[in-house]
Amino acid sequence: MENWLKRGADQAETAEADAKVRETVERILADVARRGDEAVRELSVRFDGWDRDDYRLSPAEVEGCLAQLSRRDVADVRFAQEQVRNFARHQREALRDVEVETLPGVVLGHKNIPVGSAGCYVPGGKYPLLASAHMSVVTAKVAGVPRVVTCAPPYQGRPAAAIVAAQHLAGADEIYCLGGVQAVAAMALGTRSIAAVDLLIGPGNAYVAEAKRQLFGRVGIDLFAGPTETLVIADETVDAELCATDLLGQAEHGPDSPAILLTTSEKLARETIAEVGRLLTILPTAAVARQAWDRHGAVCVAADDAEMVRVADRIASEHVQVMTRDPDYFLTHMRNYGALFLGPRTNVAFGDKVIGTNHTLPTRKAARYTGGLWVGKFLKTCTYQKVLTDEAAALVGGYCSRLCALEGFVGHAEQANIRVRRYGGVDVPY
Ligand code: NAD
Repeated sequence: MENWLKRGADQAETAEADAKVRETVERILADVARRGDEAVRELSVRFDGWDRDDYRLSPAEVEGCLAQLSRRDVADVRFAQEQVRNFARHQREALRDVEVETLPGVVLGHKNIPVGSAGCYVPGGKYPLLASAHMSVVTAKVAGVPRVVTCAPPYQGRPAAAIVAAQHLAGADEIYCLGGVQAVAAMALGTRSIAAVDLLIGPGNAYVAEAKRQLFGRVGIDLFAGPTETLVIADETVDAELCATDLLGQAEHGPDSPAILLTTSEKLARETIAEVGRLLTILPTAAVARQAWDRHGAVCVAADDAEMVRVADRIASEHVQVMTRDPDYFLTHMRNYGALFLGPRTNVAFGDKVIGTNHTLPTRKAARYTGGLWVGKFLKTCTYQKVLTDEAAALVGGYCSRLCALEGFVGHAEQANIRVRRYGGVDVPY
């Protein structure tokens, strides 16, 4: 039986925080819908202390940001983007259009068509998360999206040079320095200065994730990608320092980021709790990571690998770092995760920053029904059909007519009947 040595915040606390975020976001979205740019500007001043007539960055401003980076920085960004691009291209190639003759004379197919425009949000409130530009913008371009708009908040009172450089190098068509719900709302609803997009993409804090959730329907969204979560699955083949480092490496994202250790070794569990305490005395970002660990950190001891799979699938964490004797056991058996990091040589930071898999991943158990961001999220899989022979029209029409009659859809049935009469030369009674 699983044994929890430490548990995270209870459901009531989480539900109360969710309700507050929901109400705030509702108000902001209604305001932007009603007053457009005027509301966007006021909100930008209120939440980010950032005021401009036009939030779109000019080519000169973009060049200015690029010039602030060293050659090494630019080379590193380019390397990371190349890894993301390369893997995304392979994924795109694996997505074939389909055309097949399913009955004599009946041809069915689907085409993968990129959306016309995507709005890629790059988070930057606490840290300038430039990696999100690679993940969203590069992938959108590989998918073939013609218009890619991207927004990121100001960082310490001005555009974050590294984010802007990454947005530009990734191939963005329009770059805005605008953060939070107001950015997401402006991209989704459109204002005088930002034309509405078809699809919202990218991670963000609880407000950004909730805004995308509420806007879904009026605009497409990639997935629910809120505050980061991590689950470390480990056994006695690794030590507490590695486990604690991997937990805090993600807890530093924000005070609302769960970090969970799941292990078959009670000794490792207790040593990791102690090690987290020690690292929190030296980690420069400990102020944030400590809050996350105190409120949302959890440690569970399980009987064996099979039980770890069951618990992990129930948690459905965004990131799952596996450091056990047989990591592939988890690849074979787990069903619910955003991304797996298999073996002690890799880790979540590799995936977050550079290795090439996408870091925009499902949170809050959304991994039960979706994977993370990838080229496929920018594509609409649209079907078509052709009936090439009179015989096929008559055959399908007969079935269709009778099935429509069963539903009482007389008009539908007549659509079939007229074809049966014209192309088959017979009548279909209903
Ligand atoms: P952010 O850009 O997501 O949010 C900053 C914006 O939030 C600000 O511009 C401000 O407008 C708005 N805001 C702040 N307080 C507000 C309030 N009280 N009411 C309304 N709006 C408010 O940056 P962040 O805050 O640093 O968060 C980034 C988040 O992205 C982290 O939680 C991180 O874990 C998450 N993330 C998730 C993934 C994923 O794939 N799931 C990947 C990377 C990052």
